[in-house]
Amino acid sequence: MATQKITPSVLGDGTIAELAEAVRGNVIAPGDPGYDEARAIWNGAHDCRPALIVRCTWVADVMSAVELARSQDLEVAVRGGSHSIPGFSTCDGGIVIDLSPMQGVRVDPQAGTARAEGGVQWGRFDHETQAFGLAVTGGLVSTTGLGGFTLGGGIGWLVRKHGLTCDNLVSADVVTADGRFVSASAEENPELLWGLKGGGGNFGIAVSLEYRVHPVGPVVIGGPTFYPGERSAEILRFYRDFVRELPDELTTLAVLLWAPPAPFIPADWHGKALIALFTCYAGPLEDGAKAVAPLRELGDPVADLMGPLPYTALQSLLDPLWPHGKHAYMKAGYVRELDDVAIETAARYHQEATSPASEIHFHHFGGAVARVDESATAYRERQAPYVMNVIAASYESEGYDAHVDWAQRLYADLEPSLTGGAYINFLSAEGEDRVRDAYGGDKFARLQALKDEYDPTNVFHLNQNVPPSAA
Ligand SMILES: Cc1cc2nc3c(=O)[nH]c(=O)nc-3n(C[C@H](O)[C@H](O)[C@H](O)COP(=O)(O)OP(=O)(O)OC[C@H]3O[C@@H](n4cnc5c(N)ncnc54)[C@H](O)[C@@H]3O)c2cc1C
Repeated sequence: MATQKITPSVLGDGTIAELAEAVRGNVIAPGDPGYDEARAIWNGAHDCRPALIVRCTWVADVMSAVELARSQDLEVAVRGGSHSIPGFSTCDGGIVIDLSPMQGVRVDPQAGTARAEGGVQWGRFDHETQAFGLAVTGGLVSTTGLGGFTLGGGIGWLVRKHGLTCDNLVSADVVTADGRFVSASAEENPELLWGLKGGGGNFGIAVSLEYRVHPVGPVVIGGPTFYPGERSAEILRFYRDFVRELPDELTTLAVLLWAPPAPFIPADWHGKALIALFTCYAGPLEDGAKAVAPLRELGDPVADLMGPLPYTALQSLLDPLWPHGKHAYMKAGYVRELDDVAIETAARYHQEATSPASEIHFHHFGGAVARVDESATAYRERQAPYVMNVIAASYESEGYDAHVDWAQRLYADLEPSLTGGAYINFLSAEGEDRVRDAYGGDKFARLQALKDEYDPTNVFHLNQNVPPSAA
């Protein structure tokens, strides 16, 4: 029996008490101790006040929470790692079904699989799988939840070697909008599994996800090399040529940023514009050293941190730069061609950034991602050479609108070099047309048919929404 204090809310004491009896996790309402902490999500730009937060410990709690939401006609926000940029994992006046207590991970080294509960973050998953020398493509920041991340696609340091995270999704257990427990795998409900590979949280709450995992590390060649920001255009041109013939083992990322006051950057560079080239070579270390050697020929780095390091260290290297509470907005797309105009435009906007916490990313893509059959997953864009992500960010709300405006203007100026596609994990709240751009007409229709089957009244609409056809 739950023991937490029950306080009045729009739901009434009786309803909350009933739910508190039914679940093992905490039920937190406005006025309860810990309410402010429990309602906060990663993105500090969203400040919402749910009527109830249910911290679910396992499937039965999730079912009870969905049942309460249905019976009270409450808006539902599902929370895994809480990294949603548009703030979909919270809401005003509704119920937050918070999976964060669901932290189980079980690795089966013989089968080469690992199963994680829906609230697991990448840091925890990597810790468990690396104990067996295994991994799957995970996020660049270890506090990101693997639920939202996987269901949207999943781009990380292993993406060229092992594909998107969703390409490695073997099965999932889902609680649907009518409170049913449904498994999806190649044998059981395969169409649902197809939809979960990129279709986001539209079809239900994934209470556990099973992955194919691969031998990785434990040591990889990785980390960043920083160069002065005034060399951004020169270095992006070099980068464009460098990535043309890379082995799958090597995943790289170019980042235009402003130097944080970090100990690994010389103090006289703090606060100045930099460009960083990040690498991860997931293969034999001697081969990795050769593969990244051309990056060192650029000369005169501000700081060179590239070298052998544990895969788990690489996975959490960026965590200090992306703390909980940071304000962030993303404007992202896929680059058709990193032409000179696009490079000059990005370099100019970099210098004009309104916030030193904002960044421009060019992830090199391809490799294993590009070899998966186009029809195999709901995730669509596989042939673009880069994913571009303009991140407007700051540590305070003052000036935030100007930062967002900077990102939108940069995106608009780069549009001629983009494919027009969208990646739902990097989308802000940009409306149905951009969600359609993520899938294209045929896949959108297929996802809509799944939505009609599993969530015909759109209970799960706080996401990059595929509405049911009757909507
Ligand atoms: C600091 C930071 C770093 C990031 N790095 C990367 C990166 O390297 N690569 C990349 O591809 N993306 C990255 N992202 C984007 C990230 O993939 C998405 O924000 C993703 O949705 C986060 O998942 P979450 O579970 O943490 O989010 P939440 O905010 O908890 O959820 C986001 C959405 O997913 C749904 N959802 C979450 N869990 C479940 C579940 N178990 N079942 C059903 N629906 C669920 C929610 O309803 C919500 O709509 C990053 C985001 C941030 C803020």
